[in-house]
Amino acid sequence: MDLWQQELQQCVRSLEDLEKYIPIHNKNVMRQVIGNMRLSITPHTLKLINFDDPRDPLLLMCVPQERELQFSPEELVDPIGDEAKSPVPFLTHRYPDRVLIYATFFCSMFCRFCFRRFKTGEANPGPAEDDIDRIVTYLLDHPEVDEVILTGGDPLALLDWQIDEWLTRLRAIPSITRIRFHTRVPVNLPSRITDDLIAIFRRHMDATHPIFIVTHFNHPCEIAPENIAAIAKLIDAGIVVRNQGPLLRGVNDDPVILEELFKTLTNIRVVPYYLHQLALAQGTNHFRVPLARGIEIMKALQGKVTGIALPRYVLDLPEGKGKVPVTHRYVSSERESSWSVETPFGEVVTYQEPASECDTLEKE
Ligand SMILES: *Cc1c(COP(=O)(O)O)cnc(C)c1O
Repeated sequence: MDLWQQELQQCVRSLEDLEKYIPIHNKNVMRQVIGNMRLSITPHTLKLINFDDPRDPLLLMCVPQERELQFSPEELVDPIGDEAKSPVPFLTHRYPDRVLIYATFFCSMFCRFCFRRFKTGEANPGPAEDDIDRIVTYLLDHPEVDEVILTGGDPLALLDWQIDEWLTRLRAIPSITRIRFHTRVPVNLPSRITDDLIAIFRRHMDATHPIFIVTHFNHPCEIAPENIAAIAKLIDAGIVVRNQGPLLRGVNDDPVILEELFKTLTNIRVVPYYLHQLALAQGTNHFRVPLARGIEIMKALQGKVTGIALPRYVLDLPEGKGKVPVTHRYVSSERESSWSVETPFGEVVTYQEPASECDTLEKE
């Protein structure tokens, strides 16, 4: 058995296991909490948590809390509308050129802010062989889709042969060029990035058929030597690695921490991709940062932090209405071709455009 599989078996999965690290005051309530979304903390992440500090950011992300039972009226079971645009089981097709596939609902670690919290866990089996057949048929019928995003759950928690099968099936579809994995394995279970896994990826990519991995680091403390080594293996194999994750109260809702996170990621060649406004999943309000505060935080980073380290701040709307970039309003139009612009240094200037050549030509 590979080391990563042994580590999976050694995860903290019960309140009894968890009690060895942190006192649990109300076991009945906590049983209810982990009944809604199960508990799992990997040995790698356990090593990084400071259990003496109740506000440790890594602890907050994975140790269940009673507050998860408090649902706000605005919070939803399916907060971004995965189900609203699902033409075949285990697939969401919201944007014209790309689809999401839920390859499994299992994760090495269950994040307490998860927006698919009512789906994730071993109890929910992922796609079976006939589901995979239906997904492939759908993609063959929809050649406008040129990108597949394997998500979950965590698709890299699957076994090597399963990942190989997905890649083989998807690479047999001529219209698919880009394959993406959305995964937290490089964060919580870096030992999963084995030489065998890299060899599988290599077999299914070439100069015009890339594989992308979008990881999910939320705090600079998650970037330990094992994580850096796992990321380097992926990138050295030719995989493009980007990062996305939510803005989380008490974890990373601070420009100083985000600057360190984005720069540390950039230094290990991971491109910060999205900073998400936390989806409206039931029982996650204690993690939520107001949108206005998120906009202020990103504004504080704009111009200060190198552009190659800055992600886009995005809001994914309920009911499958889609992702939109959210930003401070830097520009506004005073009158035609005259703009009022706020600089990254706080000055407000007027930007006057010359008359457009195109308009004159069209009129002639
Ligand atoms: C987020 C999401 C994607 C990926 O969007 P990108 O902006 O390309 O990262 C695709 N499909 C669905 C349904 C999504 O929610």
